[in-house]
Amino acid sequence: MVERVRMTSREERERAIRDAGYNTFLLRSRDVYIDLLTDSGTSAMSDEQWAGMMRGDEAYAGSTNFYHLEDAMRRVYGYRYLVPTHQGRGAEHIISKILIRPGDIIPGNMYFTTTKLHQELAGGKFLDVIIDEAHDPASTHPFKGNVDLDKLESAIRKYGAKKIPYVSMAVSVNMAGGQPISLENLRAVRSLTKAHGIRVILDATRVAENAYFIKRREPGQQKRTIAEIVGEICSLTDGCTMSAKKDCLVNVGGFLALNEEEIYEQASNLCVVYEGLHTYGGLAGRDMEALAIGIGESVEEDHIRARVGQVEYLGKKLAGWGIPIVLPIGGHAVFIDARKVLPRLPQKHFPAQALSAAIYLDSGVRTMERGAVSAGRNRETGKPIWPRLELVRLTLPRRVYTQAHMDVVAESVLAVHESRDQILGLKMVYEPRFLRFFQAKFQPLDS
Ligand SMILES: *Cc1c(COP(=O)(O)O)cnc(C)c1O
Repeated sequence: MVERVRMTSREERERAIRDAGYNTFLLRSRDVYIDLLTDSGTSAMSDEQWAGMMRGDEAYAGSTNFYHLEDAMRRVYGYRYLVPTHQGRGAEHIISKILIRPGDIIPGNMYFTTTKLHQELAGGKFLDVIIDEAHDPASTHPFKGNVDLDKLESAIRKYGAKKIPYVSMAVSVNMAGGQPISLENLRAVRSLTKAHGIRVILDATRVAENAYFIKRREPGQQKRTIAEIVGEICSLTDGCTMSAKKDCLVNVGGFLALNEEEIYEQASNLCVVYEGLHTYGGLAGRDMEALAIGIGESVEEDHIRARVGQVEYLGKKLAGWGIPIVLPIGGHAVFIDARKVLPRLPQKHFPAQALSAAIYLDSGVRTMERGAVSAGRNRETGKPIWPRLELVRLTLPRRVYTQAHMDVVAESVLAVHESRDQILGLKMVYEPRFLRFFQAKFQPLDS
């Protein structure tokens, strides 16, 4: 599928961003030139996937496409049981409801918005046990997504294994800048948790991109295929939630995968309540077919090298011009350090949100905030959370844009960076209760 891009005038963009309350999530897509809001559901499907869409078996129960999907999941990720869901958060909802009891603690390598919210809605509390380097945009640690084993061990000592239903393990850690974990770290997490009888549940959303970094950076992994590394990552965990809208190259879809029969039985039963019958989970048969094919394509070496390579191309260009970005460059996105670009704006004036709006105004390129707005509020005290990282994310859809588009993006960021003294801070004038970054509205502060 090819999108016809539309260029807009400065006046049109001024009106559009004002109407959107300076929140790029509230812009209309037709007012956007190059859309780097997210890599979620925005990738281009292949000819094979589109052919699969024509082979939808839209039976209510036991669709042929479900069994294709189950085969693909078992072949690539290696888990025993599959519960399809409408997208990643559907799987997060179900697993949180089954495993978490009120008062439980869920340690994880940096929070993700929807994952953490579902853990909290189930009565649990997320505890960040990522290494300190992850919070430092300038640290060039090769595996900034790693768990700090001392932090995890002291959490187990402090709360007791009974209060920890599982460790929530993410790959290509989004909020840290798309930073990978190493196999060595995951193996260590596995043996520590095993000794205490604690499960590891993987957020497998960007597992292929993480595997690519392992192949490139981890000693002894260079000769293995992406598929082998993905298989080993999954084998070190008890189950996964998947937002298939990312790595798996579909516009919608997700799943929960498990090894334990008893948990699978509960999950397939809750799926019936919240998603749809356990053999479609909110997806059409054709969606499951496209996903089954996308899973195979996601671990192809040439694809993943080109995908991560394009992110690197954009990142290197920006870094080369002295624009402060999170290093090392992540797998799915380039993250601009808004604190460094706008040091005169205090965090309460939302510098990353303001920078993202300024980039849209300049060129019609849509990015998003990953900072204080995304971090939201502490659910117990209601107080705002002020994260160390205040970032603007330039997220690349897979197989959609060319390197020339990346040049346009980079030149716009450079232009905004050069006129950064004119960017005004923002005041939040509307704040929704949950996941506020999606729907919040802002107004510029005077000078
Ligand atoms: C997108 C995403 C999710 C949530 O999945 P949806 O498909 O958007 O519901 C969970 N974890 C990570 C890391 C994600 O990027």
